[in-house]
Amino acid sequence: MYADIIIDITHEKLDKIFQYRIPPELEGELEAGMEVIVPFGRGNRETSGYIVGFSETCSYDEDKLKEILRPASGREAIESRLVSLAAWMKEQYGGTMIQALKTVLPIKRTEKAKEHRILQRLMGEEEGKKKLEEYLRKNQKARARLMAALLDSVEIEYELVREKLGITLQVVRALEEQNVLAVKSEQIYRNPIKRVDDSRKGLAYNEEQEYAIRAFRQDYEQDIYRTYLLYGITGSGKTEVYMEMIQEAVSRGRQAVVLIPEIALTYQTVMRFYRRFGDRVSIMNSRLSQGERYDQMMRAKRGELDVMIGPRSALFTPFPNLGLIVIDEEHEGTYKSEQVPRYHARETAVRRAELEKASVVLGSATPSLEAFYRCKNGEYRLLTLKNRATEHVLPEVHTVDMREELKNGNRSILSDCLKSLIEDRLSKKQQVMLFINRRGYAGFLSCRSCGYVVKCPHCDVSLSAHKNGRLVCHYCGYETAQVKICPSCGSPHIGGFRAGTQQIEELVKREFPQSRVLRMDMDTTREKDGHEKILSAFAGGEADILVGTQMIVKGHDFPNVTLVGVLAADMSLYAEDYRAAERTFQLLTQAAGRAGRGTQKGEVVIQTYSPEHYSIVSASRQDYASFYEEEMHFRELMGYPPAEHLLAVLIACEEETLLEKGAHYLKEYAQMVGRSRAVQIIGPASPSVGKVKDVYRRVIYLKQADAHILIDMKNKMEQYIEVNSGFAKMRIQFDFDPMKV
Ligand code: ADP
Ligand code: ZN
Ligand code: ZN
Repeated sequence: MYADIIIDITHEKLDKIFQYRIPPELEGELEAGMEVIVPFGRGNRETSGYIVGFSETCSYDEDKLKEILRPASGREAIESRLVSLAAWMKEQYGGTMIQALKTVLPIKRTEKAKEHRILQRLMGEEEGKKKLEEYLRKNQKARARLMAALLDSVEIEYELVREKLGITLQVVRALEEQNVLAVKSEQIYRNPIKRVDDSRKGLAYNEEQEYAIRAFRQDYEQDIYRTYLLYGITGSGKTEVYMEMIQEAVSRGRQAVVLIPEIALTYQTVMRFYRRFGDRVSIMNSRLSQGERYDQMMRAKRGELDVMIGPRSALFTPFPNLGLIVIDEEHEGTYKSEQVPRYHARETAVRRAELEKASVVLGSATPSLEAFYRCKNGEYRLLTLKNRATEHVLPEVHTVDMREELKNGNRSILSDCLKSLIEDRLSKKQQVMLFINRRGYAGFLSCRSCGYVVKCPHCDVSLSAHKNGRLVCHYCGYETAQVKICPSCGSPHIGGFRAGTQQIEELVKREFPQSRVLRMDMDTTREKDGHEKILSAFAGGEADILVGTQMIVKGHDFPNVTLVGVLAADMSLYAEDYRAAERTFQLLTQAAGRAGRGTQKGEVVIQTYSPEHYSIVSASRQDYASFYEEEMHFRELMGYPPAEHLLAVLIACEEETLLEKGAHYLKEYAQMVGRSRAVQIIGPASPSVGKVKDVYRRVIYLKQADAHILIDMKNKMEQYIEVNSGFAKMRIQFDFDPMKV
């Protein structure tokens, strides 16, 4: 037996595996994931490395092979579990072991320590409140925001209020001069919030919350570790339930990781966790440098923390005794990595929890089909919160058929129904959100008279219009000529649907000249945390109408919003991938959840050309169960995940002819290997973005219900690519159960 060892994952040049002999005294003592000391290089320098596997044959000159010296001491336990996790990720998602290790292990980069400015409140709470009132009276909004933050916590890091609340240094200086606060500085990053005034009392949980907490606790007490899906509508109190479960794990001396989509990692969310867990919590966010991330990971490893909150990568926090992983909004696309290994945080969390003997709690108001499917087949346990935790009633939903509007002579993007409701809210001084569903837009064709959409006859996804005027399928490569007249009703009103946020904003301003309008899209949120600034301005009543893309459905609570309009609800339905209907359902449900979170009842208007489509019907009824049934039926019929598994092989190359050839050979190889194993092979096709920065791209899809077969196919293809120099100029990546094309 020989050991395969990776020497130094921070060293690009050493991006390979070295074989070492195992000395007799260590035989049977070593396992994958262990750190060992080996002689390395010409000088036989003592170097540490990780064992990533074993092989029976020697692939080098047997005589020149060196021997492992000894196991490294002191740091095995956590690291070896993470190395095992990396090995699983490499196997499941493809790529090299080094790429997997780099994803999983905290890697320190040397850099100068940044200085952190800490703002400390100098006045007492009563006096502070008076100050806050004074700023509000004088309409000094930024000062008021900062004062409110200082009332929440006595000490707070400047960077946090700058980014999350848009506070400039000027504002800080002004308050410093008035002796409201003092500015201190610190070299080491610890927590963005130093000290919190905790005056709140514990909540009395409602029956459903109690049930969920009890179910979790009963298992946990008996050392039964599972994956739970906490399915609860927006505002049903899921976050409170997570915190109680985390408390349970922490009280047993274990630690918890909480994953939250970056966009939902708002100031409000962060504060809730600080209130509950104080300085035993750390937050990973995009504001942290590599070095600071590393420091936070090391604090976790040393046992200085109980809870780590952050986006996807926080999953790999090296806690000594991880007991719980929470994934909030588990259906979110951001949980899938776009870099090799293209792992999904949900699946990877479940795997990590197995290795750690820990539990996983997934939460969502609109669970992914995967999660719900696994509840149905008994892999996960379902816990449900059907009611809102507070008094609010669910909003009333109106679906407007835009084909009828056209027939009645209204060619505007706003239906008559929506217009009159906006009018009504403006007169009542309540707020309105207009949400333009633009996600996944690439250029599908639809008929404005009858709603017909041109689809691929083989894949049941929308065709998209390319510049050359042809319509193509992004899965199988099927092509057809441009359509000028609707094949279904003969109307000439068939074409692409184009309406940007900017146009809508202008239209709204024209229609309602007396209103104040804010716009939120890629353009207005370019700076970091730009979206949160706009949302907090809107929450603070600085506008009557907020116009935006799907970004507006996340994050904040807007108690004064009583009307939500969804324009072009169908748009995401015709994205060219198999998750289009699921995404549409999620977006509509979440958008609807924005209406009426305060004391007033909310209304929602969904404008669509396909009011009969099941994802729109079930979203308007807030009926997840019937959506799930319909959608699962479609996935089963077409063999899409989670009914079966899908492996995408992404091929990129600067030379188009070479790419075509490579894709062709790879497909032939896959067909040969897959023939006897009932693997369906589709493509090569152009992905939705066929060419990026002068690099051409093709994709081949493999479908099979048995994941093991697909993983084996992937391994074989990786080997085939490795040994054929013809692929040298191509970049080939695998994407297991891809989220998009
Ligand atoms: P979700 O995470 O499901 O959207 P939250 O946990 O954010 O829901 O709860 C929504 C609101 O209801 C929050 O303001 C929260 O403090 C409040 N809340 C949650 N549970 C209760 C409860 N049992 N009693 C009173 N208020 C609650
Ligand atoms: Zn038509
Ligand atoms: Zn097709």
